[in-house]
Amino acid sequence: MGHLISVDMGGTTIRAALFQPEGDTPVLTRRTSTAVGPSVEANICKVIRAVWPVGETVAAIGVAAPGPIDGQRGVVFRPPNIPGWDQFPLRQYLEEEFKVMVMVANDANMAAYGEWKNGAGRGYDHLLYLTISTGIGGGIITGGKLLVGAQGMAAELGHVTIDPSGPCCPCGIKGHLEAYASGPSIARYLKEQISSGRSTALARETEITPELIAKAAKKGDKLSIEAFSNAGCALGKALAGFLHIFNPSIIIFGGGVSQSMELFMPALQDSLARHVLSPKYLEGLKLVHAGLGDNTGVTGMMTFLRHNYRGAYAA
Ligand SMILES: [Zn+2]
Repeated sequence: MGHLISVDMGGTTIRAALFQPEGDTPVLTRRTSTAVGPSVEANICKVIRAVWPVGETVAAIGVAAPGPIDGQRGVVFRPPNIPGWDQFPLRQYLEEEFKVMVMVANDANMAAYGEWKNGAGRGYDHLLYLTISTGIGGGIITGGKLLVGAQGMAAELGHVTIDPSGPCCPCGIKGHLEAYASGPSIARYLKEQISSGRSTALARETEITPELIAKAAKKGDKLSIEAFSNAGCALGKALAGFLHIFNPSIIIFGGGVSQSMELFMPALQDSLARHVLSPKYLEGLKLVHAGLGDNTGVTGMMTFLRHNYRGAYAA
């Protein structure tokens, strides 16, 4: 088996990593912007070429892409945070471009798989992974297996309804979790409150980002704290539902917004306790940070690719 190249497509950044045939840690990583430049697919090719090993064999490329996707055919439907893609045949496109086997899988599913095999979820067979960043994605390990569903489209945990009359989600449906707790949704909440006349240390900022809000919240800005609590409240409500369905023993939080997890955690835990059917669901339940950091997506994709290499050829 030759080298593996693993790609993680985020709404903002595309990362590529090169792995040696036996290695678990990348020997080279490169990143580029997702939407800047001629096209998203051209950016993927550029970043793959940037890690391609000169004079070595590449056995396969794995791409962790935002859902919903058809993992069997490697087709990406219309992800809310990737402009211009609608039923994009990513696997076929990259196989024609690079002449190697390509596997395409849901990015949050791959992160869940990576955390289960090599990260914070090692040893847990009932695990829930939630990535909170430009969007919200999920991955579920249940009974020691990654839940993929009939078409490889399972675990879109960001697109569950919190309130049918709530704010519009980037997917076009009202009141989804992502519309409350993603980075842009936290920023939108703060901007709405500023427009309605409320005061905050960020009132004069021209561009309000989740990072700025987190910084202000850590310095005690009340409205910024409230913006994170509002997200935490929605997260708790959604997680209560997930606990009822999957009864996991660990929930792992990844993605940029989760780096400020302590800001939404009090509201999340309070909301979770209020919405859960029985306190039994919370007994021994661990809520933790992803253990693989920035490399969660690429490492998870590489591990999945390695474990499912033959199956991928047959698919
Ligand atoms: Zn949605």
